[in-house]
Amino acid sequence: MKAIILRRPRCLELTDIPLPRLTEEHHVLVKVAACGICGSDLRYYAGENPWALHTLGRHIPNPPDMILGHELSGVVVQVNSARYEHLLGQRVGVQAFRTCGRCALCLSGHENLCRETLHIGHAQGWRDMPFYPGGYAEYCLAWADLLHPMAPHVAFEAEAMRDILGVGVHAVGRADLPAGGTALCIGGGPAGLSIAQVALARGAAHVLVSDPSPLARQIIGRHPGLAAVDPTQESLAAALRRVAGQAECHAVFDTVGSAATFEEALPLLAAAGTYVNLAVQSLSAPLDMQAIGSERRITTSSNAFYRDEREAHRLIETGAVDVVSMITHRLPLERYAEAFDLLLAGSREAYKVVFQMDEPT
Ligand SMILES: [Zn+2]
Ligand SMILES: [Zn+2]
Repeated sequence: MKAIILRRPRCLELTDIPLPRLTEEHHVLVKVAACGICGSDLRYYAGENPWALHTLGRHIPNPPDMILGHELSGVVVQVNSARYEHLLGQRVGVQAFRTCGRCALCLSGHENLCRETLHIGHAQGWRDMPFYPGGYAEYCLAWADLLHPMAPHVAFEAEAMRDILGVGVHAVGRADLPAGGTALCIGGGPAGLSIAQVALARGAAHVLVSDPSPLARQIIGRHPGLAAVDPTQESLAAALRRVAGQAECHAVFDTVGSAATFEEALPLLAAAGTYVNLAVQSLSAPLDMQAIGSERRITTSSNAFYRDEREAHRLIETGAVDVVSMITHRLPLERYAEAFDLLLAGSREAYKVVFQMDEPT
């Protein structure tokens, strides 16, 4: 099959490799129909390991020959047990992670932080393999019990956005965002926009999304109920006053994670509000402890729970969110270099790029 291999940092190659082998009863083979390029894929490309940084809090080197891509959907074309034969031909979203279910974190309801997680789209959790499974390929290994069967009206590219939307569901779950409350998203990339849409779907009255990029604000502006803010023209406090009537909010979702965003936005939290940092970095920022009085909280958000994935799937299926509006480019696998260039160059036109394969038959 054709697959894009990350040979080593900054070296992608489209090549022919053997089909993934189904070695466990619950393994299935999915013919990939759509696979999004996530911001974290750009970091793997550069030699970082964002999963390890966000989940374990430290860097772990990546092995060579990973197939990137964890935002994927497709059709089940092979199963490894009669138990799963009913899945053959089914259009599915692929859940890209499988946790161990046995460790203290899994057993205490923190499976998103499981250190034994197996991950599709990078090498986490797999034994030594010639090629690590991922979605930038014609076919991808998946788990029969972690598929999201798609309703006929849902497009493959929409279901492929479930992974990033699941990150949004998890982030909103980290905050006590009351119905009728106000949410402020700092950073309006696909993660920030996913969070904003989930906050709105959960009943927030005002959702502001701040991003200096005109393209991001243009895409955010297409969503009724979201207020796009240009932080180069307006302070966050002024934007909150303009949109919500007062300079405070119940939740801040920070996908930028700089000292400057922290300093500007923390004082805007209402009593009992939550500051959720989704871009944890090694940096120091001054903290006046009084700023977290009245039960204000500062926390982080990593990955997603299984139930977050199911909720993201439902939100897409019911049309409660619009994820297709994020996609600015659809390219075949062969144009991988162009796809990465579009995103790495900080292009003014590229927001979400999706590899689109021939419709599986
Ligand atoms: Zn991702
Ligand atoms: Zn575990």
